[in-house]
Amino acid sequence: MNQAISRPTRVIADKCGHDTADDVPELQRALATGLTGTSQIVEDYETALAVLYGVRHVIAVSSGAASVTAALAGVRFQPGDEVIVAPTCPICTVLPILSLGLVPVFCDVAPDSFGLDPDDLQRCIGPRTCAVIEVPMWGYPIASHTTWASTRQAGIPLIQDLAHAHLTRLNGSWLAQHGDISCFSTHDCKFMSTGEGGFVMTDDDERASRIRAYTRFGNLTGETLGINLKLGGLQAALGLARSRQLESRLHQRQDNRRQLLERLDNPVIRELPLTPGGEANAYALLLQAVGHDGRELVHYQQRHGIPSDIGKYDNQPLYQLPLLAQYRRDCPNAARLLRSLTTVPLHPGLADDDLAYIAKVLNDYSPA
Ligand SMILES: *Cc1c(COP(=O)(O)O)cnc(C)c1O
Repeated sequence: MNQAISRPTRVIADKCGHDTADDVPELQRALATGLTGTSQIVEDYETALAVLYGVRHVIAVSSGAASVTAALAGVRFQPGDEVIVAPTCPICTVLPILSLGLVPVFCDVAPDSFGLDPDDLQRCIGPRTCAVIEVPMWGYPIASHTTWASTRQAGIPLIQDLAHAHLTRLNGSWLAQHGDISCFSTHDCKFMSTGEGGFVMTDDDERASRIRAYTRFGNLTGETLGINLKLGGLQAALGLARSRQLESRLHQRQDNRRQLLERLDNPVIRELPLTPGGEANAYALLLQAVGHDGRELVHYQQRHGIPSDIGKYDNQPLYQLPLLAQYRRDCPNAARLLRSLTTVPLHPGLADDDLAYIAKVLNDYSPA
């Protein structure tokens, strides 16, 4: 293959760093005052997040996977109980379900949405359902309020895995406020980075204390099960500094989204329709191929140096993976949705000419 011909004229980064000047004073404070998961800096980080999101309890944990595990520990279940989840989420959401001895039940999504289809949800709810997990992908809002109404009626807690959906809004409030427990990741590739890390939030006092105990070896009392999922002090220091940058970075991302959409003028590409009442956090731009296979668009943009998460992870309905094949339950909307999409970066590190380049590449595209 001729490298000179295949090399793109520009390579767009898939993420950008944070303003580290803000990090240093908090890191120094952590170094001076304590590095464990029970130190003051961790408490300060949790308080900052609780204020930002307007919730009663935030528990900082060591990863996004830890946040899903801890959220499940906050609900009551027996081994073999079922957790309803869409097959469009990353396997990272489902592995914690398996690791607790629970059984994933794959529920289809609504057409052109990552939210659960209300009719299929009713079919999936059974006597052994212990939780429903919603996973809004790439920060696009979903109709969590509708799911929450159904799960409340059925007496089942709704967990939202908001690893992608920091600051996503629905009907004038945070998406996080439309469920019983919300989990987040602050892995380096997410909306806010502490390197590795995550947090869980809930307004329910009893669930919060169960979650916190689980992350601290059951508070070492020997009464309840637990492991160590605590976040360390240095990560919390980064989180505290960066939680203050969250809203300005949100606005930069949303500006980038607006600018790209204004320039996009290609009838074979559209943005994934926004759920009514929802506001995307612009973690990525989700584009949908109109009337053709979205993988063609994915490969085209990759050839032009524009990264796509769907190109990177090859997202497919999870029951197609060997580990999860035994839980297969065909979800046609999910399969169609994943096959129609690509993502485009919107991070604050993009310059004006990056945005112009991305728009030009997308406008020049025509499917075979
Ligand atoms: C990244 C991610 C996770 C896992 O987060 P880690 O911090 O990498 O453990 C879980 N769920 C979703 C939806 C994710 O995107």
